[in-house]
Amino acid sequence: MATTLERTSTSRLRGLRCRACHVLQPADERYVCGECYGPIEPEYDLAAFDTESLREEIGRGPLSLWRYAPLLPVAEPRGHFAVGWTPLVEAPRLGAAIGVARLFLKDDSRNPSLSFKDRPVAVALARALELGLDTIACASTGNLAGAVAAAAARNGLRAFVFVPAATDESKVAGAAAYGANVVRVNGTYDQVNRLCARLADEERWGFVNFTLRPYYAEGSKTLLFETAEQLGWRLPDHVVVPVGSGALLTRTATAAAQLRGTGLADGALRIHAAQPSGCAPVSDAVLEGYRAVHPVRDPVTVARSLAIGAPADGDGSVEIIRASGGSAGSVSDDEVLESCALLASTEGVLAEPAGGVVVATARALAARGTFADDESVVLYITGNGYKGTLAASSLLPAIAADADEFRATYAGALS
Ligand SMILES: *Cc1c(COP(=O)(O)O)cnc(C)c1O
Ligand SMILES: [Zn+2]
Repeated sequence: MATTLERTSTSRLRGLRCRACHVLQPADERYVCGECYGPIEPEYDLAAFDTESLREEIGRGPLSLWRYAPLLPVAEPRGHFAVGWTPLVEAPRLGAAIGVARLFLKDDSRNPSLSFKDRPVAVALARALELGLDTIACASTGNLAGAVAAAAARNGLRAFVFVPAATDESKVAGAAAYGANVVRVNGTYDQVNRLCARLADEERWGFVNFTLRPYYAEGSKTLLFETAEQLGWRLPDHVVVPVGSGALLTRTATAAAQLRGTGLADGALRIHAAQPSGCAPVSDAVLEGYRAVHPVRDPVTVARSLAIGAPADGDGSVEIIRASGGSAGSVSDDEVLESCALLASTEGVLAEPAGGVVVATARALAARGTFADDESVVLYITGNGYKGTLAASSLLPAIAADADEFRATYAGALS
């Protein structure tokens, strides 16, 4: 399958390298190491890029994650919708409230299905099309189901998405509206995951987080590529990353290494993990001295999209955080919801609870003196609050269409 190695004119994909035994192998249909079944990842010949031509090529590229095609393992599929190139905005009012002098939000809640999962899915989908698959599937805590369902609809593929029965209703409803077969499973995400691992062996489907995982995970790099480009081709000093499986966090480090290796951007990026205390296997391992990750059996948290008790890239995340000089936060549900409200009311960005986890973690890190005043701090806001979970409208009073009743009910806000 040598042809799969040359996809775009400028991609310098060398093949897939095993993280356990380090053997480089061809980018054929394998999704684990052919030698030891370890995890494999695309590797590029970074030294072969000329920095200035690469920067120009990216600058000429589409306003989507496909502008980074030279550093992706697949070419842009025709007709897929634009994913990525989301805003990086300064957040001075939130910064003042949580004690961070130079705060930025990477607002990735503005993707086609309203979460950053559209990025990994875009790359996995391109690979599925390349392999001629007619069905894509996933195990999901909610957002991945929507991203897979939307991408399948857009490209005329069949989709099976598997979610814990307790998944946010609005996310289940969204995936179903896109026409996916939504399979609700009684059990935790880890149990859903085991079911999908079995089905991935038995069906010739593109399981985005199993059989397409080496490609899927690559999409997550583009969040840091964009952040660096939007900062004028500089790495931020700090980034706070919400952690579920750990794919986003570990690929943030991969992206930093590739930006440095190509000469596109430089700087010492410290990577911090954000998790809710009801499911914080990675943050707990970091905060208790960078030990190995102990799985959480029954995650209970309002941040359901991060409720992965046995993260696939858990130990890898801990290693990366330590190597980068980063830290972690483990924050309560109350802090999460309060932080969502604070983010919305100070900056006009309505995030799902994962965003509240990130803001609350940044506040905790700031209180510990992690950020110097001249250092840039970027928060990844990965999911949109309009997908549900926030305070229900029924919690607010309903008034008659009457000005006096309005003034009486809202006397406090009006004074
Ligand atoms: C999936 C998800 C994450 C975590 O991503 P991983 O790569 O699984 O660690 C963060 N935020 C949101 C909103 C998500 O849906
Ligand atoms: Zn191997």
